[in-house]
Amino acid sequence: KRGWIEVICGAMFSGKTEELIRRLNRAKIARQRVEIFKPVVDTRYHLEDVVSHNATAIRSTPVQFAHDMLLLGSSCDVVGIDEAQFFDEGLIEVCANLANRGIRVIAAGLDMDYLGKPFGPMPALMAIAEYVTKVHAVCVCCGDIASYSFRVATAQDKILLGETDVYEARCRNCFLEGMQRQ
Ligand code: ADP
Ligand code: MG
Repeated sequence: KRGWIEVICGAMFSGKTEELIRRLNRAKIARQRVEIFKPVVDTRYHLEDVVSHNATAIRSTPVQFAHDMLLLGSSCDVVGIDEAQFFDEGLIEVCANLANRGIRVIAAGLDMDYLGKPFGPMPALMAIAEYVTKVHAVCVCCGDIASYSFRVATAQDKILLGETDVYEARCRNCFLEGMQRQ
């Protein structure tokens, strides 16, 4: 049995989770044993995801360390990983290990953080993957294709209310413009 690594990357709201679920559902139709993992994330880094309609179709298992997936995913045909950017650097080794053992690994995650810098283990994971798909959102400012997740400065009262950061999908131009304004 042959394994491989697929990466789905892009900005927030670009449909990474949707695409991951689409692929996993098709694997299920083919009677493959599928498991989806998510990192247990520190609330400091929590990013609110758009709940896609089919998002509830697959139950995910929260794990603390990338290495937890080695054992938990060992009896699967397909291992899905969402929010891959939040995992430790061990993720690269874990994905390679699973793929070497014949498992199809599909990892979805942000390729860039809100500053536009490569995010955690994503660059290295993209380097060792057989397939890399970059999906795009729509820029909320101009409607162009968006590759950046812009962090909107929240008002004082909002911070007191929910302590949640607000993100916007933006194209390069509108992202730069917003960064210069802050
Ligand atoms: P991701 O996992 O990449 O954050 P999701 O799969 O959770 O993305 O959500 C994708 C969905 O988000 C789209 O199908 C669309 O309905 C919605 N959405 C909200 N804002 C935007 C935007 N600016 N551009 C594109 N889609 C958006
Ligand atoms: Mg998502």
